Amino acid sequence: MKSRHTRISLTVIAMTLCALLIAWPRVARTQPEQDATKGQKAPTINEYQPKSTLVTKEHKVERAKFPFIDIHSHHWNPTAQEVDQLVKEMDTINLQVMVNLSGGTGEELKKTVAAMKGRYPSRFVVFSNMSYDDLDKPGFGKRVAERLEHDVKNGAQGLKIFKDFGMELKYANGERVHVDDPEFDAVFEKCAGLKIPVLIHVAEPSTFFEPWDYHNERWEELKEFPGRARPPAKYPPFETLMTERNHLFAKHPRTNFIAAHLGFHGNDLERLGRLFDANPNVYVDIAAVLAELGRQPYSAHDFLVKYQDRVLMGKDIYEVNEYKWYFRALETRDEYFEYYRKRHAFWRIYGFQVPDEVLKKVYYKNALKLVPGIDAKAFPE
Ligand SMILES: [Zn+2]
Repeated sequence: MKSRHTRISLTVIAMTLCALLIAWPRVARTQPEQDATKGQKAPTINEYQPKSTLVTKEHKVERAKFPFIDIHSHHWNPTAQEVDQLVKEMDTINLQVMVNLSGGTGEELKKTVAAMKGRYPSRFVVFSNMSYDDLDKPGFGKRVAERLEHDVKNGAQGLKIFKDFGMELKYANGERVHVDDPEFDAVFEKCAGLKIPVLIHVAEPSTFFEPWDYHNERWEELKEFPGRARPPAKYPPFETLMTERNHLFAKHPRTNFIAAHLGFHGNDLERLGRLFDANPNVYVDIAAVLAELGRQPYSAHDFLVKYQDRVLMGKDIYEVNEYKWYFRALETRDEYFEYYRKRHAFWRIYGFQVPDEVLKKVYYKNALKLVPGIDAKAFPE
């Protein structure tokens, strides 16, 4: 009995010694490090700006490899001088054709077409927009279709629908205009008849519909612009808008739709693939959602190869110096580089270099196919 007790005690002592010998150097090592951080409080999200120590090959692309069409840009009532300046800047980055989605309708559209296309016929495309001024008068949809036909006669080459459609736009009785509201069927059928595409922005990033908490990927953007939040008390849920949008796409199979911003499925490319599979009339642009592709370079590459006929180059907010991120992401395999708009992505992005044939489709071939009246001679075969 006694000898067994002694044996157990010795084992316990030996094990304790071993544990101390293993742990002691570690304790000794970490002590000075802890001292060095003493007195430092944890940084806030804005204060913490670590500098990457990664050394790897960089390919800064200042000019697109091929001439390209920007399918998603906004220029409200530009002056002749502004347009001259724009063309000079476009030339520096190989931007051959700029699509101004903010043409308005009626007289405003005529003015914008004159200022842009009138002076540089091969460099600009102008899309028309709907006016909702007479939304509550019977026959609204038919009137919009007629106005659109006039706008196309006056030089419009597509219809752009802004994000208020489905979210803020309401009838006088307070009822929200649903994205698939039958009142607008005449408009979408008119687009099919006129052979013009509809570039449509439905909803917002799904995170804007989520609680603004520390798990929200767009916490910084919602902090900077609290008005971008889409709380359930005031807005329909993201999924409701997606359901209405998909119903709209399905009920007008002859109409070509370009869903802006990867249809807000940039964070779920398989879902976007299913949308493409179900609706051959649906396309997307990559405007302002490059960071979604850049954080999943393998998936982005494979997605663009698989759906190379469905994706179009676009930028949204015009700034000549920001296009180079798109070129670098699409044309190189550069790794872990900073994005140009931190509120969209606190993460760094990766290039997902696509083959030239795919690049040409994204840069211009798909847009040439969808938008009537662009001179194809300015682009390579
Ligand atoms: Zn836009």
